[in-house]
Amino acid sequence: MRDTWPLLEQIAFPPLRRGRLDTLQVNVGYRCNQSCVHCHVNAGPSRSEEMSAEVIDVVLAFLARRSVGTLDITGGAPELNPHFRRLVRAARAMGVRVMDRCNLTILEVPGQQDLPDFLAGERVEIVASLPCYLEDNVDRQRGTGVFEASIRGLKRLNALGYGHAQSGLLLHLVYNPQGAALPPPQAALEADYRRVLGERHGIAFNRLYTLANMPIQRFGAILIAGGEFDRYLDLLQKAHVDANLEHVMCRNLLSVDWEGYVYDCDFNQMLDLPFAHGDRERPQLAELMDAELEGRPIRVAGHCYGCTAGQGSSCGGALKEAAE
Ligand code: SF4
Ligand code: SF4
Repeated sequence: MRDTWPLLEQIAFPPLRRGRLDTLQVNVGYRCNQSCVHCHVNAGPSRSEEMSAEVIDVVLAFLARRSVGTLDITGGAPELNPHFRRLVRAARAMGVRVMDRCNLTILEVPGQQDLPDFLAGERVEIVASLPCYLEDNVDRQRGTGVFEASIRGLKRLNALGYGHAQSGLLLHLVYNPQGAALPPPQAALEADYRRVLGERHGIAFNRLYTLANMPIQRFGAILIAGGEFDRYLDLLQKAHVDANLEHVMCRNLLSVDWEGYVYDCDFNQMLDLPFAHGDRERPQLAELMDAELEGRPIRVAGHCYGCTAGQGSSCGGALKEAAE
């Protein structure tokens, strides 16, 4: 696979500094039951990297020590980590808001049949990828049969109360474009999703988040192979909006990899750009228990335009609307 970092590091991006930490995003491993085309983690069934019990303990200690409000659990399919449920239970017992980046098809994997009940019981917020409301588009990007399995998963979650306003069980969907294009406006697309998924499948959800594809990892390699890398970067740069710099997720989030190393965001983690911490080349989360983070510089490069182009993208969808 062609690495896009040598190209990205040559592209200047406005300087950014950290604000108050409110979210710890942990990648608990790269194993996944799917192998999606756009996956910026290169996750798949053959990946074996996963967060150990010891690193999970450090994550929990950090949440408690720094009173971090939100734990955002990602992967791969995070639920495949054998310590996933312990992490969720312990964080919830501390009153931490927990988000699970769920791919929906995981709900049908053997051994995970009781996952919806577990997530509902712990009142975990579910953020689920569904890159289109049309079957062909989803299956092309995520694999044959993924759309139907995702619909079945959404129906099970709805049956438990997820996605229904009065239950308080939050179910958000995530859209990303099929190729080298910017996502359409979030509010209009959300209305389309709500109409089509509601009318055709009887599915309810809370919010739709639209995210731009990042020019890194598998998607970055596809751009290079297709001769589209420069055009896509040009598209992102031309669509850059300065106001989005205030709201990019790295200002209030720390990203932790499966070994406990720390990054400014998940994308920097995938580019192997560690968090800048004095003369430490690669700090561990355990070293940051009492560190002053506010005001620290963030490591930026060309890929950051993926967060600031157009309406902007963060783990909570379009920045412009998220800020409103
Ligand atoms: S489901 Fe998510 S983590 Fe798994 S391969 Fe697809 S994009 Fe990557
Ligand atoms: S990719 Fe986005 S979240 Fe990550 S450092 Fe750049 S602007 Fe921040």
